[in-house]
Amino acid sequence: MLIRTYITICGAVQGVGFRPFVYRLAKNLELSGNVANTSAGVLIEIQGTKDIVEEFCRRVVSDAPEVSVIDEVKFQDLATVKDESSFTIIHSDSGGSKTVTILPDLATCNDCIDDISNSENRRYGYSFTNCTNCGPRFSIINDIPYDRPNTEMRKFKMCPNCQKEYDNPLDRRFHAQPNACSVCGPKILFIDTDNNPTPLNEKECLKLAQQSLTNGKILALKGIGGYQLLCAATQLDVVASLRKRKMREEKPFAVMVQNLETIKQICDVSEEEEKLLTSISAPIVLLQKNKSNKQKIAINVAPENPYLGVMLPYSPLHHLLLNNGPKVLVCTSGNLHDEPIAISNSEAQTRLNKIADVFLTNNRQIARQVDDSVVRQTEKGAQFLRRARGYAPFPIIHKKDYPNILSLGAHLKNTIAITTNNRTILSQHIGDLSNQEAYQSFLKIVEDLPRLYDFKPDIVACDLHPDYLSTQHALSLGIPVISVQHHHAHIASVMAEHNEDSSVFGIAWDGTGFGTDKTVWGGEFLVCEKGNFERWGNLMPFPLPGGDLAAKEPQRSAIGILYKLGLSANFNHLWNPNEVKLVEQSLEKNINTPMTSSIGRLFDAISSLLDIRQITAYEGHSAMMLEFCATNTDNSYSFDWLNNELDWRQMVLEILKDRDTGVSNGEISGKFHNTLVNIMVDSAKLSGLRKIALGGGVFQNRLLFEKGISALQKAGFEVLTPINVPANDGGIALGQAFVAGLVNQC
Ligand code: ZN
Ligand code: ZN
Ligand code: FE
Repeated sequence: MLIRTYITICGAVQGVGFRPFVYRLAKNLELSGNVANTSAGVLIEIQGTKDIVEEFCRRVVSDAPEVSVIDEVKFQDLATVKDESSFTIIHSDSGGSKTVTILPDLATCNDCIDDISNSENRRYGYSFTNCTNCGPRFSIINDIPYDRPNTEMRKFKMCPNCQKEYDNPLDRRFHAQPNACSVCGPKILFIDTDNNPTPLNEKECLKLAQQSLTNGKILALKGIGGYQLLCAATQLDVVASLRKRKMREEKPFAVMVQNLETIKQICDVSEEEEKLLTSISAPIVLLQKNKSNKQKIAINVAPENPYLGVMLPYSPLHHLLLNNGPKVLVCTSGNLHDEPIAISNSEAQTRLNKIADVFLTNNRQIARQVDDSVVRQTEKGAQFLRRARGYAPFPIIHKKDYPNILSLGAHLKNTIAITTNNRTILSQHIGDLSNQEAYQSFLKIVEDLPRLYDFKPDIVACDLHPDYLSTQHALSLGIPVISVQHHHAHIASVMAEHNEDSSVFGIAWDGTGFGTDKTVWGGEFLVCEKGNFERWGNLMPFPLPGGDLAAKEPQRSAIGILYKLGLSANFNHLWNPNEVKLVEQSLEKNINTPMTSSIGRLFDAISSLLDIRQITAYEGHSAMMLEFCATNTDNSYSFDWLNNELDWRQMVLEILKDRDTGVSNGEISGKFHNTLVNIMVDSAKLSGLRKIALGGGVFQNRLLFEKGISALQKAGFEVLTPINVPANDGGIALGQAFVAGLVNQC
């Protein structure tokens, strides 16, 4: 007897070869029916004898393609069977609710690498080779369902050979939407310094690009999610001129390295790190530099930094480029300073003109900017520092359904999010909104993400800070607004990832955030439950002469700390004495001197007092330098609690004493980190709660993160940390969404 079953599969099931997989499975089992891609997911009708249909239902889940992610699957037996004998793939329908998961861009698979490396293969040397297991997705999609006419591949008509692959359910490229070859697909174009496109074939273009890199030129390469700036990482002079032209003085550059073997000549690579590097997301992984530095990476690539951001080639073009010429390339976003990455050819020509010597561009458009992601492996799991290519827009799944919420994030490292039903889609990294270009791209993405998912917000969530541009934009939308305190959002972001809404004790440590008392917070101990929080305690506030300026000049934090201690600043050897006097006067008269409880600024102050760093070149710079110099020690400093205020005064006095009696900066830094770990454990014990959530940019400090978690776990606490979302402000939008969702639960 025949039965007919209806199957709905939701999740990341489009653009991953799911339909061909279903087709092959049905053919193998000699079942009839059909499969369709709809905006709600993959729908299957399957017909045959009961036991074979049951086998199909089992295997459709267990044998699903490796890159697919199934969130939900439903089976329903249909009352009637049909008179049919074959299994067919039905054309996509574009109606219905757009809840399907859009995939991130996937790194080139090994089969495709073989194709472009084999001189017998028709895709030998072709830069846009892909298949259903790899290739661009989020960066080329304009609408869902994910079909070629809805992507930036729509203008390339497939040649008969490509079409044959596309139509053949047994081919690896069956319904691979960006399928292309050198006959029909996008083409690269080399542009020399005079901006004259040269009439060359692909091979010649590549060769010129490789020669330029070898000869010390800076190349602007149109990559997957935007332009990248490349140069030979071994050439000190060219790296220096890239820094100068890009206006990026000291912030470390990432490198792209030809293969794993070469990476191991410059960095230590653990098994977990190798897995991250070679994953389909292929992020930049922060690796510990090794001493041998066999590839002779120039010192100014990541100055004064024990780590190097490293990635493998992740598109055919990158693979081909690195096959000849330099094996290690500086590979940084195609932008000036803090601007967003350039994506269109005209934009690149105007914005990167003064940075790059030569361009390797192409005629496929990029639908949206997607920067390279940055990840680090710690003893306590992987940590996201920037989440974009390879990860966005994978959703974060909740236990409950929430109303439609648009969350606009914070100000630095901005991301936005949309929440609908039981999922939040966090956007790719956008950047620092004080930069005009980044703000423009924020506005674009606030329009783009909801449009893509056909999403209309009922509520908008934003930061409590009235001056953030993201807050002002939220207020201009004319829909109900929920303002979420910055540090509450940091902790809520962690709670969201762990699906936790019962009482947690949140340790939110970062640079700055606007507090409910209108002062600058940043060293917060919060009791969070459902969508609410209570400020259990905080770092004892100290004055911050110059306000925001202090983040760039750690000496200001030091002067503020010393002032609070009733000590005068002895900075005359570092700073102009008149300037110090002016700062001290502003403290006395309380002019532009907000009070702050920021741990980030405490790090700055200590870094300055030890004369490690007086001026920072990028966010978090002085705290990083303090972390990097720490030596291993069991010692620590004293601290106290004064009505739930963390009293750091004794600690600073002891640090000054150590400094003045010749104790090394390494030992002092080690003791300082241990003290913070002790504070974490002590506060957790005092709170009476068992679940501790850690959030905020300070937890990007690896030493503090690893030691803090170990100590808390040893003391018997359950520790919740960010998993797939950054601890820094890149995770704020998710926290805002979770708070707004819990407050307005359906
Ligand atoms: Zn492939
Ligand atoms: Zn073709
Ligand atoms: Fe923050």
